[in-house]
Amino acid sequence: MNTPVPEYLANLLYNCKANGGGQLADYIPELASADPNKLAVALTTLDGLVYSAGDDEYEFSIQSISKAFTYAYVIEELGLDTVLKKVGVEPSGEAFNEISLDQSEDRPKPKNPMINSGAITTHSLIANADNTCRAEIIRKFFSELAGRELSFDMSIFQSEMNTAYRNLSIGYSLRNVSILESDPTEIIESYIKQCSINVTVKDLVNMISVLVNDGILPRTGERILSHKTVRQVLTVMTTCGMYDAAGDWLANVGIPAKSGVAGGIIGVLPGQVGLAVFSPKLDGHGNSVRGIDIMQQLSNDMGLHLLEGVPSSRVIVHDQSVVRTKPEVKVYKLQGVLQFTEAERLLRILQDEDKSDNIIVFDLSHISLVNDVGRRMFLDGIDRLRADGHDVALIDPDLVLRDAKTPRKFVPKIYQDIQEVLN
Ligand code: GLN
Repeated sequence: MNTPVPEYLANLLYNCKANGGGQLADYIPELASADPNKLAVALTTLDGLVYSAGDDEYEFSIQSISKAFTYAYVIEELGLDTVLKKVGVEPSGEAFNEISLDQSEDRPKPKNPMINSGAITTHSLIANADNTCRAEIIRKFFSELAGRELSFDMSIFQSEMNTAYRNLSIGYSLRNVSILESDPTEIIESYIKQCSINVTVKDLVNMISVLVNDGILPRTGERILSHKTVRQVLTVMTTCGMYDAAGDWLANVGIPAKSGVAGGIIGVLPGQVGLAVFSPKLDGHGNSVRGIDIMQQLSNDMGLHLLEGVPSSRVIVHDQSVVRTKPEVKVYKLQGVLQFTEAERLLRILQDEDKSDNIIVFDLSHISLVNDVGRRMFLDGIDRLRADGHDVALIDPDLVLRDAKTPRKFVPKIYQDIQEVLN
C-alpha cells in the first residue's frame, strides 16, 4: 500500500492551476521577471517526514518569510523582554512596508516584527561582535534549520538594493527615534540580503519543523528554540503574518503563517504539521494568490483550523474494577489524552473514593499524551489519595509521566500481581 498524501498534494496543485489571478511583485525589478507558472507545495509531519509536489526543487528568495525565523533567533539570543522593548506585537492593519511607528507608549517603536519596520529592527538586534555581516549569521542559522547550505540570490539582492528607497526611509525614521542604534544603510543592506536567501518549499518545511515541534528539530532531535520563543513567534505569525489580510486569513485558513513577496507562504500548526507553498503572483496585500488558495484547501480538507480545537477524549476512565480483595486493589484504566479537561474529570471521579487503606492502581498504558497541567493535576490527585490513606501504584509502560518528579512511592510486588491479573 502507498500512502495517499503525495497524490493528494499533486491533485491540490492541479486544481489550483486554473487560478491565474494576481500580479508579480514589481518593486523589486528582478521579481517582475519571475516565471508566474511555478507552483509547489510541501508538508512536514510532526516527526519530520517531508511530502512535496510540483516545482519542489525550484529555488526562490525567502523574502519576508525570513522575518519569522530572525525574530526567533534574536529572542533566543537576547531574551523576549529585550526584544519587546524595541518591537511590539500589535497587528498594524497597514501595508507591510508602511513607514509607521506605534506612538502609544513613551517611546515610539515598530508595531510588530512581521512588517518591514519591525523586521529591520529585529535584524539590527543580531549580535555581530566580530563584525560578521548579520545576514551571514542568519544564513547559517537558516541553513542549520533547513539541513543544507542555503545561499544568497545575489541578483535579487542587487536588484532590491538598487531600488531600496522605501526601506531606507524606514531605516532613517527608525534611526531618528533611536530604535536603530547604528548606520541605517548598513542595516538595510544586511536586511535585504537576509530576504534574498534562496529556498525551496522543501527547505521551508524543514525549517518550520522546528516550530511544529515546539523548538526541537526533528531531524536531529536537538532543541534549537525554547517553548516560549516558539509560542511568541507563532503568536505574531497568527496576528500579523499575513499583514492587513491577517483577519481574513485567520477566519478562512486559521493557521499561523508568514508570506513573502517572491510568492512563498509558510503555515505552522503546532504539534501537527508544517506547510509551505510557492506561486509568484500576488494579491494587493503582497500574499501569493494561488498560495492562499492551496493553504485554504489544505486547511479545510485536513481540518487544520487552529480554532477547531483539539477535542477532549471525553472518557478518561475507560474501566474501573476491583481486581482483588484483602487488601482491596482497585484499578482505574485510563485512556486518551490527559490535559486539564480530562484531569479535572478524573479528579472529580476520585472524589468519591472514601478514606481507606486500599490500593489504587492507575493503568496509563492507553494514555497517549500528558501535558504539563494534566501531569501536575494527576500527581496532585495521587498525593491527596495517599493523604487519605490509600496506597497508589502506576502502570506506565510508555513512561508518559516521565517528566514528573517521580518516582513516587511505587509498589513493585503488587504491581507484578496486578500485571498478572490484568494480562
Ligand atoms: N525584501 C522585501 C522588502 O523588504 C520583503 C517584503 C515581503 O516579502 N513582504 O520589502
